[in-house]
Amino acid sequence: MEKKELLYEGKAKKVYATDDPGLLIVSYKDDATAFNGQKKGQIADKGVVNNIMSNIIFGLIEDAGVPTHLVRQLSDRETLVKRVSILPIEVIVRNVAAGSFSKRYGVEEGRPFARPVLEFSYKNDALGDPLINDDHILALGLATEGDLATVRRCAMEVNRLMKGFFLERGLRLIDFKIEFGLCEGAIILADEISPDTCRLWDVDTGEKMDKDRFRRDLGKVEETYQAVLARVRGAGGA
Ligand code: UDP
Repeated sequence: MEKKELLYEGKAKKVYATDDPGLLIVSYKDDATAFNGQKKGQIADKGVVNNIMSNIIFGLIEDAGVPTHLVRQLSDRETLVKRVSILPIEVIVRNVAAGSFSKRYGVEEGRPFARPVLEFSYKNDALGDPLINDDHILALGLATEGDLATVRRCAMEVNRLMKGFFLERGLRLIDFKIEFGLCEGAIILADEISPDTCRLWDVDTGEKMDKDRFRRDLGKVEETYQAVLARVRGAGGA
């Protein structure tokens, strides 16, 4: 499958058309941003890590019966995916307090929740991706009630699957962000799942093994992305 015109360039990925109108090629970049684009940098080979890791996790999710946009990996940085129309909603699932939850509600990072917390934010950079609830989503016409029910169910299932997968590899899944798209009327999982979009803490040491190393200038950024990929691939994991 060949790349045709560049359709979209985001902060972390480029998206190309293909000969098939139903299929796109995603190309992962090494560019890193944080705090709504205010902090910018590069993480060497992040694009390779995020592409390969995303595909392994999407494969796991697909095999478990949750439909995704994944078609097949084309190279280290490129993947063929189904064309979807992305819902302008970021779906965040939290197992342990961290990041914006801790800040907003004054809860120390690391406090586990009795049950997962599901959060939505409105994908809108100009507004700073504000937190929204189901009623806001319906009022703004961002999704239908049926779609929202599917999103909830899939997000909880993705959390269950990923929690187990990462735990087997010595990683605690603290929280993550996923996105969904509409493909021929059906809601399917799209975008990526990587250290950019998940918080992962080492089970034994509590060490942060995700984009917080970049956000918070914790050092060992590249090494950590490689270490997560190695664990996800099943080599050198706990
Ligand atoms: N997240 C993301 N993209 C965003 C916002 C959040 O991938 O635009 C991920 C983030 O990496 C973390 C989870 O969603 O795993 C929850 O992030 P949070 O709301 O705590 O925001 P942050 O502290 O990252 O600003």
